[in-house]
Amino acid sequence: MADELVYTSVYTVNIVIKGTVPDTHWMYFPDKDLSFYRISFPKNYFKKATPNNEQIIAVEVGSRDHSRKIEDIEKTVVEEIKRMSIFNIEEIVFVHCIKIPVAYCIYEHKRPPIVQKLMGSLLEKDIHQIGRYGRWEYNAMQDAIIDGKIYQIN
Ligand SMILES: Cc1cc2nc3c(=O)[nH]c(=O)nc-3n(C[C@H](O)[C@H](O)[C@H](O)COP(=O)(O)OP(=O)(O)OC[C@H]3O[C@@H](n4cnc5c(N)ncnc54)[C@H](O)[C@@H]3O)c2cc1C
Repeated sequence: MADELVYTSVYTVNIVIKGTVPDTHWMYFPDKDLSFYRISFPKNYFKKATPNNEQIIAVEVGSRDHSRKIEDIEKTVVEEIKRMSIFNIEEIVFVHCIKIPVAYCIYEHKRPPIVQKLMGSLLEKDIHQIGRYGRWEYNAMQDAIIDGKIYQIN
């Protein structure tokens, strides 16, 4: 039954460059002409992540295709960021893509009854579900903390 639940994979393409990036933590790109939806700049919140003159561009590509070729994704993303005027890229030091196989749960109409049934049968065995994957929901860091507190109270 759990097999019927739908989700995206996220391929995070980490690119280390010599050059400059925007002075922000992350940016969203709701643009159908781009392969990705968000870029983060980890160096802007952890200065020691790379040597002084290097910056990190962490690009997240979401997809319902769970077996995409990593090399193709990396190639497309690098071409896209090279064209973007928000970056000044002097040199690409390295590119490394990490796949998160199960990333975002998709809220299709069939989701609620499946989740209810699965959680119900686990609860009968005194197994309590929390978190993004346990409850099969959209969930951020603050929700993980709240889930933990609620579970502790109950
Ligand atoms: C693609 C994606 C994007 C996200 N973006 C955001 C965002 O922008 N903002 C936000 O707030 N949240 C975001 N989240 C959610 C956020 O990552 C989670 O809410 C948060 O990481 C949950 O923290 P946690 O410590 O509970 O679990 P995790 O960060 O998952 O840590 C659990 C740890 O336990 C380890 N572990 C598991 N089983 C065992 C075991 N049996 N023995 C030992 N170790 C074990 C795992 O390896 C892992 O290191 C995102 C999640 C995903 C997947």
